[in-house]
Amino acid sequence: MSEHEHTKTDGLGDMPLAPSGAAADGAWRAPPRSERMAANKIECNACPVLCQITDGKVGACDRYANQAGVLVRVDPVILLARAQSGDAPASDELVPFVDSAQLEPASAAEVAGRLLPGAGLFVTAVGASTTYPDYKPAPFIVSSQSDGVDMVTVVTEGIFSYCSLKVKIDTDRWLGPEQANVRCKGEVVGHVTTAEYGSQMLSLGGVHHITGGSKKEGRVTVDMMHALGNQGAVEFTIDGGAQVLVQAGRAPVVGGVEESRMRVGCGSATVGIFAEQFQGLADEVVCVDDHITGVLTEHQAGRCLSMRPAGLKVRGRKSTPGRYFQVANPGTGWGGTDIADPLSIIEAWDPAQAWPGLRLLMVSTTGEHAAWFVLDQALVPQPAPMPATVQAIVDRIGENCEPSLCSVLFLGGAGGSLRAGVTENPVLLTRAIKRALVNVTCGGAPAYVWPGGGITVMVDVLRMPANSFGTVPTPAIVAPIEFSMRLADYQALGGHMAYVRPLAQVLHTGAWHRDGAPVARRTLPQPDANVWPIGQPPMLG
Ligand code: SF4
Repeated sequence: MSEHEHTKTDGLGDMPLAPSGAAADGAWRAPPRSERMAANKIECNACPVLCQITDGKVGACDRYANQAGVLVRVDPVILLARAQSGDAPASDELVPFVDSAQLEPASAAEVAGRLLPGAGLFVTAVGASTTYPDYKPAPFIVSSQSDGVDMVTVVTEGIFSYCSLKVKIDTDRWLGPEQANVRCKGEVVGHVTTAEYGSQMLSLGGVHHITGGSKKEGRVTVDMMHALGNQGAVEFTIDGGAQVLVQAGRAPVVGGVEESRMRVGCGSATVGIFAEQFQGLADEVVCVDDHITGVLTEHQAGRCLSMRPAGLKVRGRKSTPGRYFQVANPGTGWGGTDIADPLSIIEAWDPAQAWPGLRLLMVSTTGEHAAWFVLDQALVPQPAPMPATVQAIVDRIGENCEPSLCSVLFLGGAGGSLRAGVTENPVLLTRAIKRALVNVTCGGAPAYVWPGGGITVMVDVLRMPANSFGTVPTPAIVAPIEFSMRLADYQALGGHMAYVRPLAQVLHTGAWHRDGAPVARRTLPQPDANVWPIGQPPMLG
């Protein structure tokens, strides 16, 4: 589908909502046509927007289309092939599902534990489609075997209004004050949150930006989340701070400069780690850090090595001996401070302790900045060529820095449509997850389930298949989610047993429903970084 028909969502409140529901025999039926809908259109009811799509066109989210009067999910459903599985070849080939006439739920006998071909395949929810509104069973409820145990995986593309991205940016450079607004295309889409060890953190998206602001703010927010989740690059500006380009798995670009090193540790840790190596080569070492600047001879590391006190007093607030906070303002200079001249953090030398000829190394937490000084007769540091032996330690500080990367974690709350698609009594799914009976994955990637109430999952987008995320103009994010468990446990939690179908049948016929189902599948290799989703212990809080 190259030509897009983007349905307008304004005015949908006037549109009559067609009744739909389960028939007396329990089978789901498509809703009746809206009387106001033109004959050449069909209605997509995979989300509340209810697009009316003309033949040959796609709906507002680009995910569903009218193909000769049939509503289809345009992207293939993505399967993963387990490494070293004899019957699970991965190929990029598109494999069509057979005619929809064969789409029928399996009989109980078919579902009962059978060793099936294709046991090395996992049906992800990427491209799987969504069964909206909530009461309909998930599009794929797949039985398979793992080590002789009958398993089931419930697969759906979830529509998430409550979701955000947690972004970790490995850099010492100051991005902006905590709580500062983060903007994308001028709209506020998140904020700076607590910095972590060697990283600045952003919290992006979330329901207040998606639904609680202007229409433009909501749209820009989901577009930003869609792009970052699909491993694309997005540029942000931070109020009172920096401009930063973020892309999962790539180095951040702060103020136009690509970051390369994630610091070895704070200034205190750095002087401690390398203290013994400096002994005899330098009389004092100051590791400049926006958070904790280390002064070696005063630091416990220098004392343990019986280093002679150098009598150096640095600016800032002393925390403990040799550890100083706030030696300068935050910035993009030495060690995440705003200084370009390291001597500017020196307040004084104690003439009773310092001596002419004292050798001083000033270095940053990444080793990117380093300078060597020798005190003259007036106890004033004079620049001097750095000895090769000292330079080698500075180089080692740099060598111990890891590559600076951006990490993007999707965080979403699985609510009504998701849980009801799994079971007729949704709280039983929540309880089963808390009892570690259910493994939750997103596109086959392991998902961490937060403690406490509800099903709040967090997943690294780099472990998910490419283009796992979509959007709908409600606005909301579309993200894949799968629940794997023993078949017996599924039955016990009130699962939609009539819709369980063996993997072999699923591979042949596709989703159980016809309306809006994917028409093809594609098999990708299971990423090495991920464990096989079936038969694994859940990642719980
Ligand atoms: S899922 Fe997409 S095509 Fe279907 S109603 Fe929603 S926006 Fe429209």
